[in-house]
Amino acid sequence: MLVLKNCRLIPQLTEGFDETKADLVIDGKYISEILPAGSANYESAEVIDAQGMTLLPGFFDLHAHLMFKDQDYNASMMRGQNEYLVDCMEYAGVYLKHGYTTIRDCGNDFYAGIAVKDAVNRGIVKGTHIITSGKIISPVAKGNESFGSLYWETDSPDDMLHIVRSEVAKGVDFIKYMVTGAVLNEGGVPGELITTEEEIRAVTSAAEKLGTYVAAHCHGTEGIKLAVKNGIRTIEHASYVDDECVELMLKRNDLIATVPTYSIAYTLYKELYEGGVLPEFVEKSRAACASMAKSVAMCEEAGVLVGWGTDLDRQMFERFPGLEFVARNEMGQPNLQSLKEATINSARIVCEDHLRGTVKKGKYADLVLIDGNPDEDMTVMKNLPKYVFKEGSMAAAN
Ligand SMILES: [Zn+2]
Repeated sequence: MLVLKNCRLIPQLTEGFDETKADLVIDGKYISEILPAGSANYESAEVIDAQGMTLLPGFFDLHAHLMFKDQDYNASMMRGQNEYLVDCMEYAGVYLKHGYTTIRDCGNDFYAGIAVKDAVNRGIVKGTHIITSGKIISPVAKGNESFGSLYWETDSPDDMLHIVRSEVAKGVDFIKYMVTGAVLNEGGVPGELITTEEEIRAVTSAAEKLGTYVAAHCHGTEGIKLAVKNGIRTIEHASYVDDECVELMLKRNDLIATVPTYSIAYTLYKELYEGGVLPEFVEKSRAACASMAKSVAMCEEAGVLVGWGTDLDRQMFERFPGLEFVARNEMGQPNLQSLKEATINSARIVCEDHLRGTVKKGKYADLVLIDGNPDEDMTVMKNLPKYVFKEGSMAAAN
């Protein structure tokens, strides 16, 4: 048994307890009690005094890629399968250190995501809770070939059932599909539609038949509309949302959400890359960030579910702790909204909100203790969390 004494709580991220200071009791994997501060009295329990710290639910990165080691994507693609897998395992551990107790991997080769997930679940590797896709399914498109066998290209809706069945048979949790061009693909145009309505319908209906869903890489307005109309569950990046996109999303009577990812565009426009950034990229990415912020604000205001993604490689992720929080804050997002998107909203998107996503008695003790008050000052997120717990175990003490 473990007691976190004198924790500061954020009411919007806490359920079933009204005070803002508490002693939190962890028993096994779960939060067993939330008691008024100073009242927990367990003789044999281990105690951590969390005075001055804010207790948050563990964070979710719904758009992660364990395979991205650094910004040298070409060298990354030259790795052998074993090295690739070990790198992915390492990143799964790094996530924990930064307070991310759940990630959703949106595309990896060699089914590495499944292997790392299994290793974590078996307790062989210490890492974050993983929800994973396999290969990225895509129409034939410029730049895909530079990622080796990461992409599973097809231009045939008839093939979709076979491809989705193959992926599900391997053990993936969901399907990743490319609806528009990607920023990082050489020659790819981010906003450009690269698929057809028929193809999207084919992949989403194949996934539905097998009890899973499709996450779509989707920057541009036209692509977002087509994705929303044809059964995509999560719109990844969602850079250029307009009023009609929002209306279409509100009309859907099943789960639909956007998963914006500010970090990459932010690092480009802030010129945080070691090798420097071309001036045209600085301007382009500043505009992309601003547009994403506008899109998120529109969705939030209308009541569309918005989640949390980073899309970051491990090197950048480690160099700049809290980057996605800092980026969204600088682009004008209110602190509390960011904290909700990184926790409860994202838990809802992956249908795990009954297990995680808030501080609540009976839920998994996936918890983060932050020095300071991130709801009032987001710069405290630039420091690593003081403590991270995953399913009741201490996962990091920084
Ligand atoms: Zn991605």
